[in-house]
Amino acid sequence: MIAVLDTTGLLVAYHSWEEWREDRRRDALAEPLPPPPPLAPSCGHCWGQARIFAPARNGEGLVPSPCPVCEGTGTVR
Ligand SMILES: [Zn+2]
Repeated sequence: MIAVLDTTGLLVAYHSWEEWREDRRRDALAEPLPPPPPLAPSCGHCWGQARIFAPARNGEGLVPSPCPVCEGTGTVR
């Protein structure tokens, strides 16, 4: 029995080197994962949080309100 650390750091046991070679071959032939979709740039005014703190109408502190720049989406187009 052969124990090998795989690419994720897990210890994987194989019964023979032939089994290990077959596993390597399967990894080499596998389709690569597609790249992740591009992220929309986050809003610089609210730092992507989609809301900002604005003075409360009653004058007692700050309350969260939708960002006026990105209209509450957190991203810019
Ligand atoms: Zn914003």
